[in-house]
Amino acid sequence: MPPLVLPSLVNGDSGDPALFLPFSCQREAYLFDIGDTTPLSSRNLLKISHVFVSHTHMDHFIGFDRLLRLVLGRDKTLHFFGPEGFLANVEGKLAGYCWNLVNNYSNSLVIKAAEIDGSQIKQRSYSCRHQFRQLEETRCNISTWPVTIREDAVHKVRAVILDHGLSCLGFSLEENFRINIRKDGLSRLGLCAGEWLHHFKQAIYERQNPDMIIAAPASEAAAGKKRFRFADLQQELAVISKGQKISYIADAAYTEENMEKIRTLAADSDHLFIEAAFLDADRDHALEKKHLTARQAGHIAAMANAGRYTLFHFSPRYDGTGPQAFYREADAAYRAAREKPRDP
Ligand SMILES: [Zn+2]
Ligand SMILES: [Zn+2]
Repeated sequence: MPPLVLPSLVNGDSGDPALFLPFSCQREAYLFDIGDTTPLSSRNLLKISHVFVSHTHMDHFIGFDRLLRLVLGRDKTLHFFGPEGFLANVEGKLAGYCWNLVNNYSNSLVIKAAEIDGSQIKQRSYSCRHQFRQLEETRCNISTWPVTIREDAVHKVRAVILDHGLSCLGFSLEENFRINIRKDGLSRLGLCAGEWLHHFKQAIYERQNPDMIIAAPASEAAAGKKRFRFADLQQELAVISKGQKISYIADAAYTEENMEKIRTLAADSDHLFIEAAFLDADRDHALEKKHLTARQAGHIAAMANAGRYTLFHFSPRYDGTGPQAFYREADAAYRAAREKPRDP
């Protein structure tokens, strides 16, 4: 069974930060940070429904215009999330162009942008038909951290605020649970796999009525469809297990407070993506720039008990060095921290 999401760094380990998260079996994707998106095809960009922006340093936000241009004139709602000051940045982008002809478009693009500060989530809507003037604003108080900023039946996205000289969000994407389909169950019931299993799984995620009837295609085409009670089919076919967790940390100073927040957010991640702008020899410079070194990133990955991690955002000063030097440092710190006995 493929994982729910197959994350990939759009620009590798040295280019602008952007982590593309396409959902398998669906035409939807998320994006963590929106630096340069040139390597992403238009087809993939159009799958994006939610963009989570850690902060608006240029290399994390410059891809906004390309995405906006592509979706303009489409019937779509595009969601953006960002840290304190984010709404002003989005409005500044939108104010950078003239929109006198867009009210003629037959389709209406709506942008919903949310800003997460220390106490609340403030969301504003902007519609293409209204020249992207602000339509409405909602506010919601934050009571717990990490705060859940996006949730549906299948997964949730949570965020914390990190210090990078400014507020910078760290994100985690977590499946609520995982559903695997038993192949032996399918053959025992004489059913074939296919698109219907996607809907079947969605019904499990949504905890639909156990007595409803599911029509499933028989493996012998002549037999047409077989009918089952939803709960009975679940019993026969579905194996429920722990969901996948992916975390993303871009641009954070190596401070006790940041480490604790990352450890909580990214705890037990299956895959942690973490910035490592510098090598440890340049740790004083890293501290000054409020970035992590590879050694620090490896140490944090171990503290968060991440199953695996990927480093990114290598500084251009190491062009030609190659990723091995970064991973050597990070792996040594990761192993050392994991081997250290924990406090009783
Ligand atoms: Zn930055
Ligand atoms: Zn950066």
